[in-house]
Amino acid sequence: MKKNIAILGSTGSIGTQALEVIEANPEIFSVAVLTAQDNADLLIEQAAKFLPKEVVIGNEKHFDKVKSALSSFNIKVYSGIEALVSVVESEEIDTVLTAMVGYAGLLPTIHAIKAGKDIALANKETLVVAGELITALAKQYGVKIYPVDSEHSAIFQCLVGEEENKIEKIILTASGGPFRGKDRAFLANVTKAQALKHPNWSMGAKITIDSATLMNKGLEVIEAKWLFDLEASQIDVIVHPQSIVHSLVQFEDGSIKAQMGLPDMKLPIQYALRYPARLKSTFPRFSFMDYPSLTFEKPDMDTFRNLSIAYEVLEKGGNAACIVNAANEIAVEAFLQDKIGFLDISDLIIESLAKMSYISAPTYDDYVQTNEATRRFASELIQVKV
Ligand code: NAD
Ligand code: MG
Repeated sequence: MKKNIAILGSTGSIGTQALEVIEANPEIFSVAVLTAQDNADLLIEQAAKFLPKEVVIGNEKHFDKVKSALSSFNIKVYSGIEALVSVVESEEIDTVLTAMVGYAGLLPTIHAIKAGKDIALANKETLVVAGELITALAKQYGVKIYPVDSEHSAIFQCLVGEEENKIEKIILTASGGPFRGKDRAFLANVTKAQALKHPNWSMGAKITIDSATLMNKGLEVIEAKWLFDLEASQIDVIVHPQSIVHSLVQFEDGSIKAQMGLPDMKLPIQYALRYPARLKSTFPRFSFMDYPSLTFEKPDMDTFRNLSIAYEVLEKGGNAACIVNAANEIAVEAFLQDKIGFLDISDLIIESLAKMSYISAPTYDDYVQTNEATRRFASELIQVKV
């Protein structure tokens, strides 16, 4: 029996690498659903090759194009957010890979869980915004959430066989991004072109900027809390510029386990899709001789304030992380449009956090409203700044 996969965000960095994994293992996986927001041409190409049952193009402007290009295939074509949330419920899907970017992942993930689908989770924003809700739902519906994020996959891999043993703490590694070691004076003038040059990983634009500000590591701290049921004090971050040690777990006897390898997202993707099995791969192998020194240093949380903001909202709970996520999404978009500077990103998040109302036990509707209100507020702040 092949495993039938739905890929939400199939045209992105994670989505295309997931299709490479599926293509390399045709006897193990098949594609049930593909979705994308704007890249109609690539979605059409992917659908013609992998022959999913259903395809969703988020932006309705491209519907006619996708529909007519795929008319000779037995593929149903839909458009819009309603289609996106109902397509994940489709009977033949075994696992939904959430590889879309941002808050938009929340609703389809909720629908997939309620339909009993296992989740291969790349879309970390969903757990940042509503980790409490999502993990409770997964428990209620007996659904597994398999991490795709490389750090969380590393921890997940270290925990195999350790079901009886408590985690003392985890150590998330961070590359430090393109601006590691720089001070605020330098950061005040960096351009988006500089920020988009990640030293070790090639990823979508939003997560690449998040890596440069260390917001990505902050989001991952929150993601780890929910995936592994940890307190903030049990989650450490250490900068490791070579990105070879993908993260570590320390147990109560003091023993530390690490997962290592050359940086390649296809490994965590295939582990999440085929857990507990490890699929044979031809990925380049790591050699210690090529890396005679692996180095580690403390993150600079005074300069890269987004990481300390993440710890702060993790302690605070409620809708605080939802506020941070929404403000960050607006700020990153504005930075990518040259509307604000690099350091304004943290300022915007801090101002939003101070201004928006705190809700200690939010419902789904509270998250929706918090997200919308924060986006509005942050967008207005940007209007004032430009
Ligand atoms: P990307 O920008 O390359 O791709 C995003 C995909 O989502 C595209 O297919 C796009 O069409 C779709 N999309 C965009 N907006 C959407 C919307 N509003 N509704 C539905 N679909 C939408 O992003 P990426 O780098 O592949 O990252 C995807 C997710 O995976 C993010 O949450 C990111 O944090 C996480 N992640 C990525 C990497 C990586 O190496 N790229 C690593 C770890 C985690
Ligand atoms: Mg990561």
